[in-house]
Amino acid sequence: MVLGLSLGCPTSDKVSSDPGGSNSDADTDTDTDTDTDADPLDLALEMSEANLTETIQDLEDFTTRHTFTEGSEEARGYLVDRLEGYGYIVEVDEFSVSGHATANLIARKEGADNPDIVYLFSAHYDSTSSLPETLAPGADDNASAVAAVLEAARILQSHTLRYSVWFVLTGAEEQGSRGSEHMVEWMTTQGVDARGVIAPDMIGYWPLGDGDAMDILGDADSAHLVEIMAATADELGVAYKDWIDHDYCYGDDHTNFQEAGFPAITPMDCVEAHNISSSGETLPHYHQTSDTLSTLHMPFTTRVAGVIVATLAKLAVPITPDPPAGDDLRSP
Ligand SMILES: [Zn+2]
Repeated sequence: MVLGLSLGCPTSDKVSSDPGGSNSDADTDTDTDTDTDADPLDLALEMSEANLTETIQDLEDFTTRHTFTEGSEEARGYLVDRLEGYGYIVEVDEFSVSGHATANLIARKEGADNPDIVYLFSAHYDSTSSLPETLAPGADDNASAVAAVLEAARILQSHTLRYSVWFVLTGAEEQGSRGSEHMVEWMTTQGVDARGVIAPDMIGYWPLGDGDAMDILGDADSAHLVEIMAATADELGVAYKDWIDHDYCYGDDHTNFQEAGFPAITPMDCVEAHNISSSGETLPHYHQTSDTLSTLHMPFTTRVAGVIVATLAKLAVPITPDPPAGDDLRSP
């Protein structure tokens, strides 16, 4: 498909409903005794390993998603189509890197009670390798997290949420986190009240399989978000390591959000391999042409993605919508 040109940044689009696309029981919930809709932990169970796997394979099949390549542009078209398929209106927010156009993709789900309070689920879709222009499958880095964003968008689209959730796919992370930098500039200018950002980068490489532990990376200002995600991991039986007082992974997308004052955390598969030389963790496929789906452990990836969507739901709060106002209030 042809991408729409966007001169500005996101406008306040409301997600359209998808009457046929829901496999959730939320819309048929008849319980009127509570304003709580779905249990966030139940939403984790809707995370589909098959869907995650298919998305990662599809993104890998573009051969490279390195910024400025045709593959990157084709991947954007694919991602727009996928989000539109779930009923979202997608903003293609173009920006320039070294004189070349690339873009972030933003799909918004507006909160029913307080749409001005926003939570972001963000992942970069570009990739790199030793042969960036010809072969950069980027399955772990970062198709794995992009697939989780798409799944969260699918799972949450049929639920009414108290607060807004923006699903954001950033470009040009491998050129210095330029997509998140562009996003943050706009959010700051507009005074967006973003209370939390979840920005996973690599959530698919688990050499210990189901015995592995997800890393949750935050800082002092996002420690409360790390705590919520850690508690969610506990509740879902997923092992984790949390990192708050550190200088790890500086320069990733989350850093831009944090430095602009938006609390941001990063679920990851490999904090120690990146930052602690004596850790024993290794990342043999990181930024290599061998970063392919076949090296990922999808069952554990699915559980980690489940922790993320449940955390997002805890923050944005699924609710049962009020009945339409004005009906049967009085007779003339
Ligand atoms: Zn990455």
